[in-house]
Amino acid sequence: MNQHDHEEQHIHNHELEAQAQAQLKALFDNFGRQVPVYLFAGSEKEDQFGHASRQILESVSGLTDKIKLEVHGLDHELADKYQIRHAPTILFDPENYHIRWMGAPLGEEARTLIETLMLLGHGDSGLSAQSRKVAKQLDSPREIKVFISLTCPYCPQQSINAVKAAMARPDLVSVELVDIQVAPQIAAQYDAQATPVAFANDVLIARGAQPEELFMLSLQKMEPQTVFIPDSDAEEVNCDLAIIGGGPAGLTAGIYASRSGLDTVIIERDALGGQVATTPVVENYPGITQIGGKALVDIMVAHALQYVQIFPGEEVMEVSSQDMFVVTTSRRRFRCKAVLLATGASHKKLGAPGEKRLAGRGISYCSTCDGPLFKGRRVLMVGGGDSAVTEALHLKNIGVDVIMAHRRDKLRAQKHLQKLLSENGIRVLYNTQVKEIKGDAQVSTVVLYDSAREKTYEQPVDGVFISIGYQPAVDLANKLGIELTQQGYIKTDQHHRTSRPGIYAAGDVEGGYKQIVTAAGQGSGAALSIFEDLVSPYWAGDEEKTARG
Ligand code: NAP
Repeated sequence: MNQHDHEEQHIHNHELEAQAQAQLKALFDNFGRQVPVYLFAGSEKEDQFGHASRQILESVSGLTDKIKLEVHGLDHELADKYQIRHAPTILFDPENYHIRWMGAPLGEEARTLIETLMLLGHGDSGLSAQSRKVAKQLDSPREIKVFISLTCPYCPQQSINAVKAAMARPDLVSVELVDIQVAPQIAAQYDAQATPVAFANDVLIARGAQPEELFMLSLQKMEPQTVFIPDSDAEEVNCDLAIIGGGPAGLTAGIYASRSGLDTVIIERDALGGQVATTPVVENYPGITQIGGKALVDIMVAHALQYVQIFPGEEVMEVSSQDMFVVTTSRRRFRCKAVLLATGASHKKLGAPGEKRLAGRGISYCSTCDGPLFKGRRVLMVGGGDSAVTEALHLKNIGVDVIMAHRRDKLRAQKHLQKLLSENGIRVLYNTQVKEIKGDAQVSTVVLYDSAREKTYEQPVDGVFISIGYQPAVDLANKLGIELTQQGYIKTDQHHRTSRPGIYAAGDVEGGYKQIVTAAGQGSGAALSIFEDLVSPYWAGDEEKTARG
């Protein structure tokens, strides 16, 4: 970039910031009530998170008189009144609700701050009708703790679930959001080594982000729940196309389908963006030299939202077909003419002894989420592909002492990444298989087998990051009886049609090169095919244009 480009970029950024501020101001000014926010922070020098919180909260409250901020030290009488022991701690409307946040609304957590303020400003929990029923049935206190990190894209969803619960039942439910970097000693007490993780009355109720209804059910039953059956009177949404999965394939398909004229929805159970949301850096998406995975996702989501309605945090339980397809989620039913499966892929497990038991206790599949916990500590990154190397570089970059273990004598990763690995002095243990992961409450050692030297030995580590590829998410396809390839991907033709007429697939679940740009290409191709097929269904003869197999 030359000087002129830099200046233009600066002006552009400034304009964007001003636009965002104006939008926020309009939203806040529209609040039906004033929201008191108390920040308890230490001195600027001792409490950098507190200092950052103060800056953010001051700029937010400075936009409107509907947010009233007070900043105090831990020695203030209010700190005593509300039993605040850690700085920074933020209290939201403490006269009416029990919502406290031990941490700073930075990074991903900025979303939690804005959504919490929005809910409080409108004085409504925002829970779905079904979740409200569950909240009403609670008959004893629930003290929720959600451990979060500002680099975890899944965390805001779970934090907001908890805030909603606290707003729905202020008589029984309190919530404390705990940032693992700000309060590592509390995270250690709870063995919270992966984020988000939620406890109620000190009992584990959920690992990972959940759809709101599953969170409420877990809170009610006081144990992790995986299935929620919506009431028969759940809301129905009519559309032409339901896209299941909000990664690059699904988002691109949404843009293309809507622009073709199809009334389209995107349903996503986890964080939007899929794997890209947790990719530390992306350097091969054309037009963008270098960008954080989550930042790229945010751009794609903002673009998709211009055209298509997105339903995040909703899990698809079932797809059935009558005269139309009926897609049943944890919250509602979508009646549509076609379905696109853009369900992506999930992390492959090693299958080593100890892996399941110690998951979330030193074993992680997400370096951007959990990496900060291991700052200054030794971890092993397992894998030899682009993901493992990108993540090892990220861990090194944030101050983690990382070594890699790869089962062969050569890495699969691109040469460019391999070069960065050696430039950053990251040691690779070649020909090395993980035989076992050991530890009592948390990971302490890994048992490694060196196949070149035929030697087994133990390596002490604080954590193990596993990045050995992905397996296609084909549960729904299996339920639908859709044909798979020998490798387990959804079998499609060149139009992205599956073996069931009216159901299509795109992205990693179809196999192929599994790049962001190829997933986007697959999504656009599928959307255009669907449009053409809905105009002129290939599955029907001239007389019968609507029957489905
Ligand atoms: P991948 O390319 O499939 O690599 C998986 C790695 O894990 C391989 O090195 C493999 O070893 C190893 N592995 C697989 N199963 C194992 C097991 N049971 N035990 C030990 N090691 C095992 O997966 P990925 O790295 O997650 O990448 C997925 C896709 O995303 C790829 O297409 C990749 O190009 C793309 N991606 C691109 C970028 C980028 O461009 N910057 C970044 C991330 C991902 P072997 O080599 O012996 O098979």
